[in-house]
Amino acid sequence: MLTIGYDGRQPNRKKSARMKSYVSQLENGWFDAASWPSIVCPVCHRGVLVVPKKTDDKGRLRDDVRYDHPEDFDYPHVNHADIVGTFSAVLSCNVSACRGVVYAVGDMEVEVRPPELYDQGNNYVDILAVRNFFPPVEVFDHHEEFPASVDRELRRVDALLWSDRAAAMTALRKGVEELMNEQKIPTRGDTGKKGRLSLDARLTKFGKTHPELSELLLATKWMGNVATHEDDVTFQEIIDAIEHVELTLTDLYRPSKSAALERARSINAARGRPSV
Ligand SMILES: [Zn+2]
Repeated sequence: MLTIGYDGRQPNRKKSARMKSYVSQLENGWFDAASWPSIVCPVCHRGVLVVPKKTDDKGRLRDDVRYDHPEDFDYPHVNHADIVGTFSAVLSCNVSACRGVVYAVGDMEVEVRPPELYDQGNNYVDILAVRNFFPPVEVFDHHEEFPASVDRELRRVDALLWSDRAAAMTALRKGVEELMNEQKIPTRGDTGKKGRLSLDARLTKFGKTHPELSELLLATKWMGNVATHEDDVTFQEIIDAIEHVELTLTDLYRPSKSAALERARSINAARGRPSV
């Protein structure tokens, strides 16, 4: 049986950073069907998912990719730019021993390219917007040192960000609340003050010992507050928020990595040996 989730292997940070950069540039999720991102296999964490190639021009059933749309490409009067539909694709890991498979589903449309971009007479390009990957692909850098209660929410963010970015933001906020529990920040006020503490108040308490991390998390909380529906959250914002939480978790639970990063930064800034 294939097990999904953390399996003891460390994620590849370089690939994960590339994925984040790709996701942050998505505008409402649409991308050229010929330019899929390089996605790390969520099963083995080593391979990259291979996207099946388009094998004909009719947009009908293919071996692994299927487009369904109400228009028929065969009718000459059809304006291709009006074609809207859905797609499904089966992505497979390029490591043969892994045999990992990920299903992707979403929306498809046909876009007319501007004349200067005409490619050998073909000025129509299929564009896709993924609405779900299953099993979810990882955008977060998950590490076994991170508390399980927090990681559970972060995995929900991975799964939700394609279909409902506002819900992903809410899951991220829940992850921050779980993190405050792990850090033993009280949920209720001091003796004499009754009532549950808001996340703001808990973050302020946390800030007494971790001022910088508290700032990062507070910014994430504000971003989550603004999000009431999907359109309120851009991919860039969600990636920024994810990075805030990742930085915090790394600092708290993988401090050696964080110190190494700090050292690397000062070396880079000094272009050699740092002055201190
Ligand atoms: Zn794999």
